Amino acid sequence: MEFDLIARHFTRPTPGAVLGVGDDCALLAPTPGMHLAVSTDMLLEGRHFAPQDSPAGIGHKSLAVNLSDLAAMGAIPRWATLAIALPAADDAWLKAFARGFFRIADSHGIELVGGDTTRGPLTIGITVIGEVPPGEALRRDGARPGDEVWVSGAIGSAAAALAYRQGRLSMEQIDAAKVLPALYLPTPRVALGIALRGVASSAIDISDGLLADLGHILERSGVGAVVDFAALPALPVLQRYLHEAVARDCILAGGDDYELCFTAPPARREAVFEAAARADTPVTRVGRVTLETGLHVVGADGEPLAITCTGYDHFAA
Ligand code: ADP
Ligand code: MG
Repeated sequence: MEFDLIARHFTRPTPGAVLGVGDDCALLAPTPGMHLAVSTDMLLEGRHFAPQDSPAGIGHKSLAVNLSDLAAMGAIPRWATLAIALPAADDAWLKAFARGFFRIADSHGIELVGGDTTRGPLTIGITVIGEVPPGEALRRDGARPGDEVWVSGAIGSAAAALAYRQGRLSMEQIDAAKVLPALYLPTPRVALGIALRGVASSAIDISDGLLADLGHILERSGVGAVVDFAALPALPVLQRYLHEAVARDCILAGGDDYELCFTAPPARREAVFEAAARADTPVTRVGRVTLETGLHVVGADGEPLAITCTGYDHFAA
């Protein structure tokens, strides 16, 4: 039964692997001279998605959040493994899940080479493996005072969609429809991460909110930053709700957008825009790195903004 499921839904040709699904291990031949970038992310029903969410969407998102980690390192996606626990062998659910999973896998040239399948509360654990030239990975510890802070795409949308769904943010339905895709179908910024190699001094993907994730860069780099709230790129539809504290919190501390936050010296500003153009991904300059530690957000008047929120707490009840 289990082997049937694996054969039906998770066994695909893997020309980029020496040996894919079906043996005790997959066999992979890394490109000579490249470093491997490896990352794992888990998604749990009730925490990362709701039972009624579309299985194709869950398939997409579980791989997307992992690809986002490769993006944040500037790594080229190569292989993935998938550990999945599910309450019942629901063929229709698995078929749709696999469709969402393989669609985004194919669009990033990533091959599923193994995994584990078991009965249990719906849980998805994915490990992705990418490649990056030695010394070129975008790390969290490279930000230097004077560097500029950048953000890709638009932030706050996924958190706004979640707040809307939970009834914490009342939006017109037509407006909510514009932020919902960010929550269900996030786009990992893989091309941008690769294009930023040799340009960005540090990078992270925004999974837990801008303040928390930029905070990780600052901590690892031993620096601080000032962020200009008015410069933060939010969708116009979300900007119309900025009178609501919840909407402001979504932009500053909402997670799940999977945009990149990165730093680069001011002298590389043109190179950043060129990388963004090559990756066909918008980028916005939102602040600057300071020698003095701490993260400050200033409003339009240059006055410090009172921050009521911090990042997502994975251990909150
Ligand atoms: P083992 O007994 O060694 O744990 P399994 O019976 O769990 O092996 O898996 C058989 C093969 O199917 C292995 O190659 C494993 O990597 C692969 N596999 C199991 N589950 C999945 C999955 N969800 N997606 C992809 N490959 C899987
Ligand atoms: Mg197994």
